[in-house]
Parts: sequence; C-alpha cells; structure tokens
Amino acid sequence: MTYIITSLCLRDSGCVEVCPVECIVPGQPREEWPWFYIDPDTCIDCGACVPECPYEAIFPEDEVPDAYEAAGGEVQSMPAGTPGFDQPYEGTNHHGDTVRLQYTRVLEAGEIVDLTPDIPPNYLYFGVDHPDYEGEPKYGMGYDALEMPYEPD
Ligand code: SF4
Ligand code: SF4
Repeated sequence: MTYIITSLCLRDSGCVEVCPVECIVPGQPREEWPWFYIDPDTCIDCGACVPECPYEAIFPEDEVPDAYEAAGGEVQSMPAGTPGFDQPYEGTNHHGDTVRLQYTRVLEAGEIVDLTPDIPPNYLYFGVDHPDYEGEPKYGMGYDALEMPYEPD
C-alpha cells in the first residue's frame, strides 16, 4: 500500500518535511503536475504526512474517497486543459512563500467529488505503471524534480 496525494493539494509543502523516507516530491512542471506526489514504491505507510497537510489532501490509497463531500471552499487543482478548472489560485505555503496555481476551482458545500482518479498520477509521476493507465504511459520527472531550483511561485 501507499499513501496518495490528491487534487486538494495546494503545494503547501509541510508534508515533505516530516516524511522519514523523503518520498514526497513537488510536481514539475506544475502546469502538467500541479500537486506534490508520493512515490508508491518507497512510502512506508507511516501516516506522518497526513496531519501536516492543511488541506487534508492525503489519504491511504484504499481510503481515497470516491464520494468526497465538500465542506465548501476547498480548492481543487488540476493539470492545464482540464475542463472546468479555469480559476487562478494564490495562497501561501508552509514557509510563507506565495503559491500560484492557474487551473483550479472552488468546491461548493455539499458537492460530491470522486478523488480516486487522483491515485494514478502518484504512480505515473515516478514512472511506476498503474493499471488504470495501461497502454497510455505518461511519466513525470519523479526525483529528478528535486534537482530543479524550488520555485513555490
Ligand atoms: S502538505 Fe498537503 S498541500 Fe502541502 S504539499 Fe503536502 S499534500 Fe500538498
Ligand atoms: S505515509 Fe509516511 S512514508 Fe508515506 S509519504 Fe507519508 S510520511 Fe512518507
């Protein structure tokens, strides 16, 4: 099993600092990979990252909700070109740095959202195949993203 970062992630970065195996990596380029991602092959299922996320974006893989009921006001972020995600977001991360995302939307109270499609990107970002994407490999930078200068904005 692994833990999964979902589209409720707003790149706060708090989770990165507590992971004992350093398997959480910022998505780059953020237009394609807007969240942070957990390497499923390295995650040891300790759960330490979960309480660090101010947006409650992290779940054990088998508990990612297929019917997440929004409290209202949550911001969901997606790759460029995702229909319905056309609002810019600006906030601050764990260190007080500005975070800007271009492709987001704000959830309404009571809205039901399936977050399970957010599972495969955590695999694909690290080049790990996922059955939902068989025949359609789409690999991200994985740990190579750590070699890039970190630009929260
Ligand atoms: S703490 Fe939450 S919002 Fe911040 S990077 Fe981790 S999952 Fe994303
Ligand atoms: S569950 Fe533990 S090992 Fe897995 S990503 Fe979170 S902090 Fe890291």
